[in-house]
Amino acid sequence: MSRIESLDDEPVVRCTAAVEDTDSFELLDSHATDLGGGFTIRRALPMRERRMIGPWCFLDHIGPAELGPEGEGLFVRPHPHIGLQTVTWLAEGGVLHRDSLGYREVIAPGALHVMTAGHGVSHSEESAPGRGSRIHGAQLWVALPESRRHGAATFERAETVPRLSLDGASADLFAGEFGGERVPVSWYWPMFGLDLRIAAEQCVRLPIPADHEVGVMVLEGELEAGGRYVTPGHLLYARPGQHELRLRAVQPTRVIVIGGAPFESPILMWWNFVARTRDEIAEARLQWESRDARFGQVEGWGDVRIPAPTQLPAASHG
Ligand code: MN
Repeated sequence: MSRIESLDDEPVVRCTAAVEDTDSFELLDSHATDLGGGFTIRRALPMRERRMIGPWCFLDHIGPAELGPEGEGLFVRPHPHIGLQTVTWLAEGGVLHRDSLGYREVIAPGALHVMTAGHGVSHSEESAPGRGSRIHGAQLWVALPESRRHGAATFERAETVPRLSLDGASADLFAGEFGGERVPVSWYWPMFGLDLRIAAEQCVRLPIPADHEVGVMVLEGELEAGGRYVTPGHLLYARPGQHELRLRAVQPTRVIVIGGAPFESPILMWWNFVARTRDEIAEARLQWESRDARFGQVEGWGDVRIPAPTQLPAASHG
């Protein structure tokens, strides 16, 4: 346990009374996709107005949803990735992950699983048998910097993650580094990911590295920050330069806060690939379609896989 110093003993109400630089904040609408049966995914990144927050380039809020009988639910056949890390963080339920490195792992709440795609990897994700009928969580991608993105694929897990104790909240650090703690898997860019549970009417003050930009995505409940009310289905963005982020829970609230130093370069993201140029995307696409050894084979699926879309991106950001 580590303790983040509270700045002083101000009464809770002063959390929102202070004048804030509300121009540094932007409230954006996530894009909701109904997968049927009341199963909704809300995409907070990328959005037209905001492609990345630090190295974070993809953020989905999955559920909460009641899954159908055994055999229904999440069913994502083998598909490839390049140039990114996948971070799966669950509040409820379980996901069976299988990849071309030979890992077969049940991802469960509280444990962290990170797959670093590097030059190339493939995996499948399904509802895990025996993990209950509900699913709720977040799926995130982290763009890899030039120095790492061409390297070998790896899969890492942490059975537990650092828990920070703050006034009025508990926080699991599920990615990167924050408040002197570090999640014990490999990270390649200054960044963090926090999962906070804040009691009603409590105010939490998070010290933010001044060079970080920040995103706030509510899983459950409602909070006030940066002069805005944030509920599920929204992403609150804060520009770099905040030394502190104040979150006031209107009701009991569970919230994901991600942050990071602005990324080193623009990326080109297409389907499951993060690259820099259209040629790189075209090559990876062709190699997936031709079953090139670059992406290996996910055990147990035979020839079953997700085909790549046919339409390549129009322009290169390289
Ligand atoms: Mn994937």
